[in-house]
Amino acid sequence: MDAAAARALVDRRRREIAERLADVDRRLVEVRAARGDWTDEEHDPEGFALTHEWSQAAGSRARFEGVLRELDAAAARIDDGGYGVCVVCGRPIPDAQLELQPERTRCVACVDRRRR
Ligand SMILES: [Zn+2]
Repeated sequence: MDAAAARALVDRRRREIAERLADVDRRLVEVRAARGDWTDEEHDPEGFALTHEWSQAAGSRARFEGVLRELDAAAARIDDGGYGVCVVCGRPIPDAQLELQPERTRCVACVDRRRR
């Protein structure tokens, strides 16, 4: 994959993640507003549901922020010429894998091996 194609992928993914992050932020604001009325969360099922939703949205937020940081690192690797090379086995990461997840630093084979 050439640098221009890689940059386009990273940019597209960054926009996609930024949009999702904005959605999550909107949701967090809504939940915070709704939750303001429930102080007795332990005994109020609705309050509990909102708390659960809050922690899910907060978790998504942290995940998306992590992806954005990885995308920054990916953009830096494009400039260095090290983009698209698996950090574990040193082989090129197949284009199809980069298209799905341009921030990835390991090929699918190495990620699988690590999980086992
Ligand atoms: Zn690998």
